[in-house]
This record gives sequence, C-alpha cells and structure tokens, in this order.
Amino acid sequence: GIRLKDEIVRVKQILKAAEINFEGNQDISIKNVPLLTENILSMCLKEAVNNVVKHSGATSCSISFVQSWKEMVMTIHDNGVFKVEGDKDTRGSGLLGMRERLEFINGSLELETKEGTTLVIRVPNDVK
Ligand code: ATP
Ligand code: MG
Repeated sequence: GIRLKDEIVRVKQILKAAEINFEGNQDISIKNVPLLTENILSMCLKEAVNNVVKHSGATSCSISFVQSWKEMVMTIHDNGVFKVEGDKDTRGSGLLGMRERLEFINGSLELETKEGTTLVIRVPNDVK
C-alpha cells in the first residue's frame, strides 16, 4: 500500500496536470494512524481526486485532514458540478469500493453535492 504523504504528492500532480487548483496546507501531519488505515485513506484520496478530474469540471479542489482524539477526518471538496450517477450498468465502482474499504476499518463516507462535491471520510483512531 501507499503512504498518505506520497499519495498527496501524486494527487497534487494529477490536479496540476488537469489544471485544477489545489487548495490545502503543504505539510499535513498525521500521527499514530495504523498503516492499514493510512493505506485505505490513500486509496480513497486517489479515487476521490480521480473523480474530481474525470467528472466534476471543477477549477479548484481542496483537501484537508483534521485529527482529533476520536477520529481522523479527510475532506475532499471540489467546486464543480456533481453528475448524477448512471444506471446499474454504467455505474462505476469507485465510491462503492471506498465505502467497502472504509467499512472494514469502521470508517464512513459522506457525499455532499449541493455546492460542488464534498466527500467527508472519517476513520476512528481506535481501530480494533
Ligand atoms: P470508476 O470509479 O469505477 O472508474 P466512476 O468514477 O464513474 O467509475 P464512481 O467513482 O463510483 O464511478 O462515481 C460514481 C459517479 O458519481 C460518477 O460516474 C459521476 O457521475 C459521479 N461523481 C463522482 N464524483 C464526482 C465529482 N467529484 N464530481 C462530479 N461527479 C462525480
Ligand atoms: Mg470513480
């Protein structure tokens, strides 16, 4: 699996290539996150940014990490337009795959599509 730090570097490059502004603090410090959790967050970040590039038409994308005693919250927001998912045959597996992996570590994913698209991904600190 890939470390979150490395994935952040990669998604920044992907956004740059797509001419989408990246917003977020440069050094993101994450402490005491189990490796499995970090790998799953990396995968989610990658897929979320792929979706921004593929579907949103956004001009900017922000990524933030907030860690509390209880959980780690990763938020990916773009200022594009959410495209309503297609029917069963054309529906992708990205969001579903994220949900399934997050469930595995008792995490969750919220999708907010009012102003652009916002994905709020939460993972508890005490993964058993
Ligand atoms: P796959 O991820 O399997 O390559 P996909 O990207 O189409 O395919 P999902 O990642 O599950 O599938 O996303 C489902 C659908 O939700 C997309 O097809 C698109 O219509 C919509 N969507 C997801 N993220 C965004 C976004 N950031 N902006 C606009 N639409 C989005
Ligand atoms: Mg996708």
